[in-house]
Amino acid sequence: MQNLAWVEGVFLDINEAKVPLEDRGYLFGDGVYEVARIYNSRPFKLGPHLERLQRSAAAIRINLTYSVVEIENAVSRLIDKSGCTDGYVYIQLTRGSAQRDHLFPADVRPSMIMYVRESKVLPALEDVKAVRSITLPDERWFNCHIKSINLLPNLLARQQAAEAGAQEAILYRPGDLVTEGTRSNVFAVIDGIVRTHPQSKLILSGITRGIVLDIMAEQGVVFAEEAFTLQELSKASEVWITSSMMEVNPVGVIDEKPLKGAAPGEITHCLMEKFRVKVTAECY
Ligand code: PMP
Repeated sequence: MQNLAWVEGVFLDINEAKVPLEDRGYLFGDGVYEVARIYNSRPFKLGPHLERLQRSAAAIRINLTYSVVEIENAVSRLIDKSGCTDGYVYIQLTRGSAQRDHLFPADVRPSMIMYVRESKVLPALEDVKAVRSITLPDERWFNCHIKSINLLPNLLARQQAAEAGAQEAILYRPGDLVTEGTRSNVFAVIDGIVRTHPQSKLILSGITRGIVLDIMAEQGVVFAEEAFTLQELSKASEVWITSSMMEVNPVGVIDEKPLKGAAPGEITHCLMEKFRVKVTAECY
């Protein structure tokens, strides 16, 4: 496949696509983004991703210059033209390009780009490896519900995790309350009840998180959208993280301590399976 970009309506090879030097996304991180996975040449849950893009843009007062239908059409054409079967689409919207000034420029046109890239086909469920994780203080801002392109604290935490031999950092706020991962939402089974941080400004409301909550309701799994502490996390019988790119992924080790039970445990395994059923129903 060809890794193809769409820049303001023009299709180009990803290596030829350019943005202006004074784009405010580049200068200030003044923008928002989305990532949706592509399975079998179809974007999964593109509608909810675009709704979240609209919410993120509105929260930082950027007007979307394209309608949802126009974006959906551009994504379909990108997938068709690139020949992508398994990959992802990245969509970014910035306030636009203007002479550098903190104030929002008057009359600037927001800039939208998107591109598709191939990614590895996800392994069969029995081959999914549990991730190792470390816990770190959540040093981000207080508007984590906005999918902002300002990801520096996430990058620093993820890098620290990688250097400690882990694939994800689980973040906590004062009071030792677990918020989410650097690029995922976190769930834990504590005293037989699945817990995850409630939707608030402290987490990104993950599309995968929402699907997992729906599956649990359908399957009669007892859960509560209630934050848990690091101490509760340390006695959890199952822990998993969710994201569009990782789906439902078991956590096997936290701060070098393996979880007591198997990873994936029974509930995690059920969710991994039912999640794939939803993907198959929408994309195959
Ligand atoms: N939290 C953060 C901080 C993330 O970056 C992501 C990945 N976009 C998620 C949660 C998971 O969101 P989603 O399920 O929509 O991919």
